[in-house]
Amino acid sequence: MTSSAPLFSRIALIGFGLIGGSIARAARAQGLAAEIVTTARSEKTRARVMELGIVDRVLDTNAEAAKDADLVILCIPVGVCGDVAREIAPHLKRGAIVSDVGSVKGAVLRDMAAYLPDSVHFIPAHPVAGTEHSGPDSGFAELFINRWCILTPPDNADAAAVEKLAAFWRAIGANVEIMTADHHDLVLAVTSHLPHLIAYTIVGTADELEDVTRSEVLKFSAGGFRDFTRIAASDPTMWRDVFLTNKDAVLEMLGAFQEDLSKLTRAIRRGDGDVLFEHFTRTRAIRRGIVSIGQDAASADFGRPHASLTKKE
Ligand code: NAP
Repeated sequence: MTSSAPLFSRIALIGFGLIGGSIARAARAQGLAAEIVTTARSEKTRARVMELGIVDRVLDTNAEAAKDADLVILCIPVGVCGDVAREIAPHLKRGAIVSDVGSVKGAVLRDMAAYLPDSVHFIPAHPVAGTEHSGPDSGFAELFINRWCILTPPDNADAAAVEKLAAFWRAIGANVEIMTADHHDLVLAVTSHLPHLIAYTIVGTADELEDVTRSEVLKFSAGGFRDFTRIAASDPTMWRDVFLTNKDAVLEMLGAFQEDLSKLTRAIRRGDGDVLFEHFTRTRAIRRGIVSIGQDAASADFGRPHASLTKKE
C-alpha cells in the first residue's frame, strides 16, 4: 500500500501468537496503521513482544490496549473471546471496528455480541491460514498471502465497516469472502476441524499400539504417518476450544465420515478392489483441484528436500 494516510489510526491486537504476530508484522510492513498496540495474557509473552520491536506499544491489560483503537482484533483462543469482550467493552472507542480471528464463528458471534455496545461495529473474521506453531516468535508477514479470510458480519452490520475490514485483510494479502457464521462453521468442520480430529486420532492410535514399538512408528513414519503428525502438533488449547464450540457441525460431519469409513472397511473386508480404486481416483482429483486453484504447490512430497544419491565407491 502506498497511500500516505493509513487505513486505521490505531490497531489493537489482543493476543500476540501466530495470528496476532503475523497480522502485526504484515500491517506494519504495509503501513496500515499510524500506531499498532498489543497485549498478551502473560508477562513473559508481553516481554518477548517488546523485545521483538514489531509494535509501537505493549500494554499490560486488554482494556488499556483496546482503548482509543479504531480497529480491535482479538487474536486469542475462541473459548476466551466472550470474557475478553466483556473486559474491553466499556473502554471501546465509539465507531471502532471490533473483530477476531477465531476458527469457529457461531460461538464467537454469540459470546462477544452479548457484551459489545451498539456504538461499535462488530465483524467476526477467520483467516484460513496457519501453521502448527504458536507463540510470539511464530508469526510472519506473508502468512495471509493468497489465503482466504472469511468475514461473518451479523445481519445488521454497517456495510462501510465491513468493507473497511475487508480492505484491511486484502492489504495484507488475503482474499475475502463473506458468509454467515453458521455456514462458516459447517464448511470449516469438514475442511479443517474433521481433518484435525482424524490426525489427532491416528497419531494417538499409533502411539498406543502394543505390537508395534514407538521407535518403529517414528522410524517408518515417511509411509504417511508423519504428514498427520504436522497437523496433530497444532496448539492443544486452540483445538480443544474449536471442538467444544463447534460441536454440532463437527458431529454432523463426523457422522458422514463414519459412514464413508464403513463403506471402505466393507470394501476391504470383501476384497472389492473396484470400490477402493474408484474412491482413491476421486480423492486424487481433489488434491489436483487444490493445486490448480493455487491453494497449494504442485511439488511432490510437499516440497521436502531430498538428498541426492551418490554412487558408493
Ligand atoms: P497462539 O499462538 O497460541 O497465541 C494466542 C495468544 O493469545 C497468546 O499471545 C496468548 O497470550 C493470548 N491470550 C490467551 N488468552 C488471552 C487473554 N485472556 N487475554 C489476552 N491474551 C490472551 O494462538 P494462535 O495460533 O495465534 O491462535 C489465535 C486464534 O486464531 C485462535 O482463536 C485460533 O482459533 C485462530 N486461528 C488459528 C490458526 C492457526 O493455524 N494457529 C489459524 C486461523 C485462526 P500468552 O502467550 O501470554 O498466553
